[in-house]
Amino acid sequence: MDVDVVVVGAGPTGLMVAGELGQAGIRTQVLERRPEPSEMAKAGGLAGQILQLLHYRGELDRFREASIGTTGRRRDPRGSEPAPRFPFGGLHLDFTKLEDSPMRAMLLPQPRLEGVLAERAIERGADVCRGHEVVGLHQDDDAVTVEVRGPDGPYELAAQFLVGCDGGRSRVRDLSGIPFRGTSFPEIERLASVTVPDSVAVLDDGGLDVPGVGKLPFGYTATERGVFACSGMGGTMGVYTAEVEATEYDDDVPMTVAELSASVSRVLGIDLPLGEPLRMTRFGYSAKQADRYRDGRVFLAGDAAHLFPAGGVAVNAGMLDAANLAWKLAGSVQGWAPPGLLDTYSEERRAAAERTLLHTRAQVALRRGYGPGGDALRALFLELTSDEQPLRRLGALMAGTDVGSPVSDAHPLVGTFATDRALHVHLEDPRSAGLLRNGRPALLDLADRAALRELAGQWGGRVDVVSATIDERPADALLILADARIAWAATVDAPGEAALPALRDALTTWFGAPST
Ligand SMILES: Cc1cc2nc3c(=O)[nH]c(=O)nc-3n(C[C@H](O)[C@H](O)[C@H](O)COP(=O)(O)OP(=O)(O)OC[C@H]3O[C@@H](n4cnc5c(N)ncnc54)[C@H](O)[C@@H]3O)c2cc1C
Repeated sequence: MDVDVVVVGAGPTGLMVAGELGQAGIRTQVLERRPEPSEMAKAGGLAGQILQLLHYRGELDRFREASIGTTGRRRDPRGSEPAPRFPFGGLHLDFTKLEDSPMRAMLLPQPRLEGVLAERAIERGADVCRGHEVVGLHQDDDAVTVEVRGPDGPYELAAQFLVGCDGGRSRVRDLSGIPFRGTSFPEIERLASVTVPDSVAVLDDGGLDVPGVGKLPFGYTATERGVFACSGMGGTMGVYTAEVEATEYDDDVPMTVAELSASVSRVLGIDLPLGEPLRMTRFGYSAKQADRYRDGRVFLAGDAAHLFPAGGVAVNAGMLDAANLAWKLAGSVQGWAPPGLLDTYSEERRAAAERTLLHTRAQVALRRGYGPGGDALRALFLELTSDEQPLRRLGALMAGTDVGSPVSDAHPLVGTFATDRALHVHLEDPRSAGLLRNGRPALLDLADRAALRELAGQWGGRVDVVSATIDERPADALLILADARIAWAATVDAPGEAALPALRDALTTWFGAPST
């Protein structure tokens, strides 16, 4: 075996997998076909549950230092990422209304994000090989072998496992014969940030005043020919269009100002003066999911496993796939993983992707409803989301924390993600910072339950034991997996006779026989 795990693709998902595996001491090699890191402006930042997970890893500051600022208009008083006004199906949902919004965002353009993730993976011992394209693979009972075209010619590499993080057109998925079903929409979105030309005035509410045209309101305007949106802030203006168009653009061919200008003219019927381009992207949408995320020793993660037909959620989903899978692969390489552990990855993350497909598909209908019917649907939707409860529910869906129903007959937190709200602590509470800093699952003891801590200690090296005191504890103890899913909980004041055997069962189910 040349390495323990081969990761195909050095996008956000592959680099996150490599960093997590490296931390667990797993020999990991990343194979990336591009000779240099991509400078393509794709995702504008991180949003959703991944920010919470990075807080639990104690790594949020590292990502924040690389970020270019924050979204939304209100900075959180505690200095953390503010709840944004986030796009949703041609509307903006205003999460700034919620004191403890489930949806938070950090402006961290994808090339910078990939830079931090690559640095993190390399620091932890992963080997990131650029200019190495995977062109074939085969597997047997003992290993998976990839055929690679590298800068010095073709070679083969054998590993125990392979993770295909090679994007929406995944070669690994095709070579593994995994169907990728769903819908592609004949629609092109164009998104740009440009400097404000002298002739255009930015209004206080973020709208624009354009000579010879008049006022363009902040946010989305739907016409019979598509959707236009603008937002002005400081010296920059954001411009967005969506049009029905069946052209297949190559992701590597950048959009131009002329192309954006022509699109604005088609959608709005005006000539909009545009300044110097700061960020320009063009993309289409598909709603697709792999039938399974596993074929023997081969796994799929990120865009290779799912594509969503709305923005802002894909990087979150891919990085959470990585956090779910890596510790399970580590357990399998290290020989302690119980039977079936690896299969839980596909089950859990496919179910999570279904929830993301649910709201992103709904966004397609909202966005593409042109004419008075579409306008009425959007107006009604905005009315409904001005209430706290539906806004909170949508926020959890978008953040990737609403992954379906909690497990029946168990503590209500079991099967859900640990969030600051679930733990009854304030946002980025220092008591929960670094809770999962080793990238391993943890038993969080909230009530000084020495017997529970001692029991979990028998799984040392696989599970960390962490104690904390919080004001209104939701449980006496929580078993939190490495992606922050709660696997088990002891109800407040649960007697030891009940809690100890239940915890032993949970530890054995997830981590096999005790190590001591
Ligand atoms: C214009 C645009 C704007 C976007 N905006 C957002 C946004 O605001 N928010 C958001 O969350 N998402 C956004 N996305 C989506 C986001 O960019 C993707 O979801 C994300 O890049 C997926 O990460 P990944 O690591 O799974 O795959 P990718 O980033 O696609 O990485 C796959 C990597 O695999 C490599 N590769 C492919 N085949 C091989 C092979 N055979 N051998 C070796 N290497 C291979 C590729 O070169 C690539 O580097 C946007 C996408 C686009 C195109």
